[in-house]
Amino acid sequence: MPNTLVVGAGSAGCVLAARLSDDPAHTVLVLEAGQVWPATADIPAELLDPGHLPVGPESAVLWRYAGNLVRGKLIGGSGAINGSYFIRPPAAGFTDWNSERWTFDALLPFFRGLENDLDHGTDPGHGTDGPIPVVRTTDPTPFSAEFAERCAAAGLREVADLNALDAPDGFGRVPLAISGNRRAGPAITHLYPVLDRPNLTVVGETTVTRLVMTGSRAVGVEWVRGHEHGRTDADRIVLCAGAVESAALLLRSGIGPERQLRALGIPVVRPAPVGAWCTDHPEIGVEFPGPEPATSTVALEYVLEHDDLEFRPYTPVFTPGLRRLGVAHMRPTGAAELTLRSADPTVPAHIDQSRLLTAADRANLRAGVELACELFDLGFGPVDDHWLRANSGTSQHLSGTCRMGPANDEQSVVDELGRVHGIEGLSIADLSVVPVPLTRGPQATVVTLAAAIAACYAV
Ligand SMILES: Cc1cc2nc3c(=O)[nH]c(=O)nc-3n(C[C@H](O)[C@H](O)[C@H](O)COP(=O)(O)OP(=O)(O)OC[C@H]3O[C@@H](n4cnc5c(N)ncnc54)[C@H](O)[C@@H]3O)c2cc1C
Repeated sequence: MPNTLVVGAGSAGCVLAARLSDDPAHTVLVLEAGQVWPATADIPAELLDPGHLPVGPESAVLWRYAGNLVRGKLIGGSGAINGSYFIRPPAAGFTDWNSERWTFDALLPFFRGLENDLDHGTDPGHGTDGPIPVVRTTDPTPFSAEFAERCAAAGLREVADLNALDAPDGFGRVPLAISGNRRAGPAITHLYPVLDRPNLTVVGETTVTRLVMTGSRAVGVEWVRGHEHGRTDADRIVLCAGAVESAALLLRSGIGPERQLRALGIPVVRPAPVGAWCTDHPEIGVEFPGPEPATSTVALEYVLEHDDLEFRPYTPVFTPGLRRLGVAHMRPTGAAELTLRSADPTVPAHIDQSRLLTAADRANLRAGVELACELFDLGFGPVDDHWLRANSGTSQHLSGTCRMGPANDEQSVVDELGRVHGIEGLSIADLSVVPVPLTRGPQATVVTLAAAIAACYAV
């Protein structure tokens, strides 16, 4: 029986499994729903190409949900298919966590320890010894270069290093987790280098369907692999199945809002606000005619951070003949909701983002669309609420479905170490636990948090 069973070899799962198995006396089993190739050389080349996001209708490496929401279903999880953008939130982004343990200063050693920043590694707050290579483009595509010129002409500040300790708002080149024009996702940087450890086992194409409980203790998981069904027990179970599937697993196992569980015929093990307070970074794609962006090695080379908004001049073409400038709200104050529609594990969870943007958030997003239009001299129709609702989509940054906080906090599901309140032997260490919207894209934070939680488990 493994000491720790990790569900999901995604961004958090790869880091957690690697760190926990540093101790040869600790056995770790990882069950991953997607494909696990034996070595990095076996991974299809297009999945390693950072200029290619495998999110089209033909993609075989995705979990799909209503509202165009997708997640990676393969070793490395969403971190193996994402845009490689690797920006840390600024220190102020952690203030609202209201946690003494997870302040920016407490996380900084982990941010530093994970990275090998090839541009700014020797600057204060940076690292050169970590497994994740971080670089910025040196040869931007014409659209990215034009975006930077227009930001400068508008009097916006250029930020040399968006991951600098005191990086202010402004525009700059995106720190990217890539190496030699290949994605450097969490499987490549963390799991593959340790796959031959005798105390670490990673099994692919195995979907965990439910937790096995004995009273208030999680003792194992049920899984399905092709036509085979099985059960595996462990001393401790850590969910790293991502913000959708970790929450769905709790719900299917009887941990969640009582009314929802009863309506689905799921016996209630423990009432908890699972899925009730999640968040994302809603994004409007402002499209306009112009020379199509040249194909770049990455989807996003520059961003502008401005008033809780992030502006993203995408290099891929979404609509033929049009360029796209994304305007994303990075601190929405409403809440999205994740619910199960069925106890059947093959029915995807439902995510309702309609109440994520409050009136104040919509006003800010509207100002953002207006700034985007000013930057590119665009005439634009009325940006009213109807238009905003019709045109806003997900940044694919869903988080906070199982928020961390004290047990007496009505919105929290786990404690500061990711341990599920009221359940023994069960933790979560992925993006589900982040208690407030992250002020930047989540990838740098989720791997850092997993490393920090692993360090606490190891002591
Ligand atoms: C298309 C796309 C582009 C993105 N671009 C960026 C970007 O450029 N920068 C950025 O900061 N963020 C980006 N993100 C977001 C970021 O990649 C994710 O937020 C982050 O990877 C989430 O990490 P995680 O560990 O919580 O989940 P994931 O990385 O999604 O890992 C979950 C893993 O668990 C597995 N799993 C799920 N359920 C089960 C089950 N029942 N049994 C077994 N295994 C299971 C999954 O297959 C997956 O491997 C993007 C996301 C997407 C989808």
